[in-house]
Amino acid sequence: MSETSDPTDDVDPAELTDEEWRERLSEEEYRVLRESGTEAKFSGEYVDHHPDDGEYRCRGCGTVLFEAETKYESGCGWPAFYAAEEESVTTNVDTSHGMRRTEVRCANCDSHLGHVFDDGPEPTGKRFCINSVAMEYDDE
Ligand SMILES: [Zn+2]
Repeated sequence: MSETSDPTDDVDPAELTDEEWRERLSEEEYRVLRESGTEAKFSGEYVDHHPDDGEYRCRGCGTVLFEAETKYESGCGWPAFYAAEEESVTTNVDTSHGMRRTEVRCANCDSHLGHVFDDGPEPTGKRFCINSVAMEYDDE
């Protein structure tokens, strides 16, 4: 149900150089999105953000990633969703930091978003644990 990708400008994010990414993003956004960093627990602007509707877009390219209605309070310290827009994210196994986790990336610009775990609520049982700085809330 995701609309076609709607980048904030005409640039194809797949074509951006590392230098262009640095220009487009703040230091913290760059660290998370492009270097697979993690924002500090409970520090993100969307941890306690629970709008009734709207959606969360990729901070890197504007693609709609999550619907606000799938956001829930997980208590983990990062924004959590039980479902992602199917076409908008890719997942792959991440074995960094001595853990085996499933990393979540934006399918459009390949930016790191967070991780997905299998301890979420019904109906999916998934917990998408996503960095606030990787997203931008849109109330449309
Ligand atoms: Zn993106």
